[in-house]
Amino acid sequence: MQDEQLTFDLIVIGAGMAGLSAAARAAEAGLRVVVIEAAAEVGGSAAMSGGILWTLESTAKMAYHGGGDPAFSALVAQGYRDGVAWLRGRDVHMSNVVNPLNGRGYQADLLGHFAQAVVTVEGAGGIVVRDTRVERLLTDAEGRVVGAHTVHADGEMDIFAPWTLLSTGGFQGSAELREAYLGPNGRSVLLRSNPTSDGAGLRLGTAAGGDAPKGNLGFYGHLVSGSPAWGDPRLFTRLSQYHSDYTVLLNEAGHRFCDESEGDHANTHQTLQQPGGRALMVSDDAIHQAHGVTAVVEVAPPEDRMQVALEHGGEGIVADTLDEIASFAGAHGFDRGQCLATLSDYNRCAREDWENLSPPRVHQPHKPLARAPYYGLIVYPAITFTFAGLRCDDRMRVLRADGAPVGGLLAAGADVGDVYRGGYGGGLAAALTTGLRAAGTVMGG
Ligand SMILES: Cc1cc2nc3c(=O)[nH]c(=O)nc-3n(C[C@H](O)[C@H](O)[C@H](O)COP(=O)(O)OP(=O)(O)OC[C@H]3O[C@@H](n4cnc5c(N)ncnc54)[C@H](O)[C@@H]3O)c2cc1C
Repeated sequence: MQDEQLTFDLIVIGAGMAGLSAAARAAEAGLRVVVIEAAAEVGGSAAMSGGILWTLESTAKMAYHGGGDPAFSALVAQGYRDGVAWLRGRDVHMSNVVNPLNGRGYQADLLGHFAQAVVTVEGAGGIVVRDTRVERLLTDAEGRVVGAHTVHADGEMDIFAPWTLLSTGGFQGSAELREAYLGPNGRSVLLRSNPTSDGAGLRLGTAAGGDAPKGNLGFYGHLVSGSPAWGDPRLFTRLSQYHSDYTVLLNEAGHRFCDESEGDHANTHQTLQQPGGRALMVSDDAIHQAHGVTAVVEVAPPEDRMQVALEHGGEGIVADTLDEIASFAGAHGFDRGQCLATLSDYNRCAREDWENLSPPRVHQPHKPLARAPYYGLIVYPAITFTFAGLRCDDRMRVLRADGAPVGGLLAAGADVGDVYRGGYGGGLAAALTTGLRAAGTVMGG
């Protein structure tokens, strides 16, 4: 197979939510698309997800809660409607409306979407290849990307197209890139994603001249309880402590370090930056009953998250007093005295001095931890996808450091930098909207 040459209209590298959506959209328009997938199956993290295709309902809300580049806030918030309509037009089943996090959406049949996307690509004369990696992009004398060098167990092949789309799902699978972009604790953060997304898009894009600036420390992820069985994708959602925004988080020194009410995804970034990269999550029975045993979204089963955590080897305690919680913390490497002092001060502020709580709690009522039993659980940041990535314009063209596009090169999904920063407005929505936008660029838009 070596040196065999094949020519297409579009090369898509990565067959997850962004790549397969872009490929199907381009194939619907009659383009011949080759989709290269490194894993044995298509679908990426999207196939492991709960399929909640949600976003924030307006550009303003996206700008406030997502915090990314305003052009992408607008693209995702406005493109969502067209993206959902396009999926419905392809008979992808959607649930009734669900209300995750700060936004709104549907549970979408993503496996059905991916199966149909493959049929659409192949029906238009394209191909979807699995177990294949792209080793390098091919460029012409002007630096325009004109193809890719692919490697499969059976051999190597150069393929050619006027457009190449990078949609490899981010760099969370690379300890080296996590450390470079997220800081020293990034190296050891738990992976809550498909293992294949290890920065191929970022490496291929920068090698072709694209810019991938550092400085965006954000990522989508959750605080999870530790477990010897971590790595089994079936535990990714079950061990996630989605309700940490209602709890109190303490670092190893015994101090609060963030406004927990910003949301579990934001608490996850903040915890990663703490010494030791972990936190003690404390709640009382009122918080636990209201938020720790409820379904995270309407279509998910309710579970007692503390019980599930303890059953899977999490380090936690259900205690009669906050003093016992502090002793548990002390036995696990936290500062016992400071933990107790911080919790006492937290309760004092909640009762009589809210304006002096530091950091403040902005988004929910600040209530004292007052009803036994009390819950203490050691939580760790786990990363689902990275927010730093390739610098792109709003047509998803990869840009050089001087702002000029790298000819022929596009990116979508988690390979795009700065769609989000401190906040989050939906990973599947970002992948769908940027993927469809990239297809639009290929189609002349
Ligand atoms: C457990 C879990 C639950 C989630 N729940 C939700 C949810 O309910 N709602 C939501 O909005 N988001 C959710 N997400 C996040 C969502 O899945 C991602 O944001 C989304 O899939 C990103 O799309 P993508 O196309 O960028 O990456 P992916 O969908 O991960 O696709 C990337 C693809 O690229 C492939 N690839 C990587 N490297 C190469 C290479 N070198 N060559 C070829 N192929 C390569 C990968 O194997 C993968 O198939 C969840 C994720 C997980 C893991």
